[in-house]
Amino acid sequence: MRTRSTLRHGPVEGYQFGYSPVRFVKPFPVWCYFLHDTLIDTGQQHCQPDILATFSQKTIRQIVLTHFHEDHSGNAAALRRQHNCRVLAGSLTAQRISHAFPLMPYEKFWFGAIDPCPDADLLPAVIEAGLYRLTPISTLGHSDDHHVLHEPSEGWLFAGDFYVGNLKVFRRGENIYQMIEATREILKLDFDTLFCCHNPVLKNGKAAVQRKLSYLETIVEKVLDGQARGMNRQELLKVTGLQEQWLTKFIIQNDVSANYLVRSVLEDKE
Ligand SMILES: [Zn+2]
Repeated sequence: MRTRSTLRHGPVEGYQFGYSPVRFVKPFPVWCYFLHDTLIDTGQQHCQPDILATFSQKTIRQIVLTHFHEDHSGNAAALRRQHNCRVLAGSLTAQRISHAFPLMPYEKFWFGAIDPCPDADLLPAVIEAGLYRLTPISTLGHSDDHHVLHEPSEGWLFAGDFYVGNLKVFRRGENIYQMIEATREILKLDFDTLFCCHNPVLKNGKAAVQRKLSYLETIVEKVLDGQARGMNRQELLKVTGLQEQWLTKFIIQNDVSANYLVRSVLEDKE
């Protein structure tokens, strides 16, 4: 099953691609954004023919990656070949995408294998896209290489997977404290439009980020309070109001879990 949507917000064009190899399992779609001559994130390798066809008529001078995950970096190499352009990425992202990295079966199922993209250029302090100026900002928490791009005069935040929404589950390795710290920093910026790769918020994006921060802070508070009162992991999960999604957890081979949120609160505190 393939899905596809588009959005337009001023000069920013959004393209969403989704793929699932079987009809009864929904795709897990991802957005890429195009601005003037710059493509931000590249979608999953399973959608490569559609993605290459979509961007074949565009002039892409540069591709920017927010982080290494396969649904963002999956077509960087192919699009670079198609447009003979450069790929810009943070140093850790550049290192990770320079060779194929192992994927879990569910990642291969929805997103597809990795086409290595060596020799990416490092993110400069400011990326120019026509009249627009994008400032990369490191935002840890979702992954240890994540960057967002801020366009201050337009009030845009190209958010990669920084926002996504009020998470009911965590992916293995996500760190709630880093996420909270990055979110507090981002809230110091002026922006209204959140070009998120899974959940775009075109108006009042900053309020959405503020809500997410309060949500994460409340989870930390509840879990630490419960821990002080001697609760076990199951009870701690219950006080957060979250529920383990057993079917998802099973399909995703334990890589995503509500318990990882609780675990991060307990184990990632410095
Ligand atoms: Zn991601």
